[in-house]
Amino acid sequence: MSIWVLRGLREGVVTTRWPRRPDEYADSWHGPATVRPDADREPLPANLCPTNAIRISDGGVRVDQGKCILCGRCVARRPRVFTWSAGATGPGAAALARQALVVPEIAETDAAVAAVRASLAERTAALRRSVHVRHVDAGSDGSEEWEIQALLGPVYDIHRLGIFFTASPRHADVLLVTGAGTAGMTGPLRTTYDGMPDPRVVIAVGTDAVSGGLLGDQLTGMAGTVPVDIWVPGSPPPPFGILNALLIAVGKL
Ligand code: SF4
Repeated sequence: MSIWVLRGLREGVVTTRWPRRPDEYADSWHGPATVRPDADREPLPANLCPTNAIRISDGGVRVDQGKCILCGRCVARRPRVFTWSAGATGPGAAALARQALVVPEIAETDAAVAAVRASLAERTAALRRSVHVRHVDAGSDGSEEWEIQALLGPVYDIHRLGIFFTASPRHADVLLVTGAGTAGMTGPLRTTYDGMPDPRVVIAVGTDAVSGGLLGDQLTGMAGTVPVDIWVPGSPPPPFGILNALLIAVGKL
């Protein structure tokens, strides 16, 4: 008997039941930095954040989670102001509008997000049974690719949810984009998007794709090349976070 059969018998079913049932492992991940609800008004050192994700305005301190690379400097140096956001599948794990990644949320964002949500639901009503995903790496450091690859393994097993990867844009409903948008990849990315049939959904996966990340001074992520529908912050976002976005894309969450 092969060693894999023996291992399978010993370990039993390892596949998560999420989203049908809660999964403690999904909630054990933390997301980008956020501002504590009871944040102190202490002065912040200059150059605290390497990606300029932290802003100070009249309304107080805000973190643009779309720029956060989870380096931990703000949480370590100002723990009474910053903390980590919780969970890989919670409300802040994916956003339907870029502005919604800025926390604490700005009040006028809510109406805009509601309108985007209604529009996305209308467009993707036909995708609920099964969905095909095309992934394009537009200059990633490779970390998001490891997390996407994990979705195909026994723990996440996205096929059980009717989600499949395809090599052809002609068969794809969802475009999963990683990377900061290097010059050499913007053309192929646009060609892939143009080759997909409607309705199509674009998910920007990871801080690099959302904002350019550490390269944000030179590259600004995916929004200038393809119209992004769902923004997933994180550097990289965990597999649960990517799965969460895919299920939002097809209207299953
Ligand atoms: S964790 Fe790092 S990148 Fe994120 S907001 Fe804090 S300092 Fe900036």
